[in-house]
Amino acid sequence: MTVLVGTLSIFLAAVLALVGVRAADASAARARAQLAADSAALAAVAESAPYGGGDPEIAATEYARMNGARLVSCICPRGATAMQVEVAVGDVTARARAVIEPELFRPQGELFAAAGMHPVLRASVEKLIAHSGGAVSVTSGYRSLREQQMLWTSALQRYGSAEAADDWVAPPGHSMHEKGLAVDLGGDLALAARLVEELGLPLHRPLPHEPHHFELVGSRS
Ligand SMILES: [Zn+2]
Repeated sequence: MTVLVGTLSIFLAAVLALVGVRAADASAARARAQLAADSAALAAVAESAPYGGGDPEIAATEYARMNGARLVSCICPRGATAMQVEVAVGDVTARARAVIEPELFRPQGELFAAAGMHPVLRASVEKLIAHSGGAVSVTSGYRSLREQQMLWTSALQRYGSAEAADDWVAPPGHSMHEKGLAVDLGGDLALAARLVEELGLPLHRPLPHEPHHFELVGSRS
């Protein structure tokens, strides 16, 4: 399987959760091997992340072992954005491929994922950021269905129930981010709110417990 790695801790949890679900209808050995393969591939690709620095193959070996498997092969060149591993549990083998999306490692406050955003939202956010003098940044803009799925799975794990997770992350298919109508801001949120008023931007914060979440006015009507 191929997995996309963003913020590694979150995505590792998300991937493990997805594997956990799949294990229900797969044989135990196959599931275990796949889990080990996924973990090993993620561990290897993590070493290629900007903050990594170890040997991808050593990381893959270790994570395979911790999951009860042994590493059979690792196509894991240092610094590469994709790693491919094969592991074995007894005579059951499994393969996994993990890919880093370098876009997701951009420093906050720089260019954001403007593609996919509604043009009016995008223009408003750019104006707000420009007027903030570096005090406000974009932490999340447009998200694909897949990215939303990963966030949702991660929230489900963290908060324990769909009901609780729902307070923090919209289920896949229901996020305004997927429609390109929402943006999450970081930094000085009070300043951001003030700038919305001062500049007369068509943005608002419809979710009381998410002060970082700004939407285009009228998005939900
Ligand atoms: Zn949001």
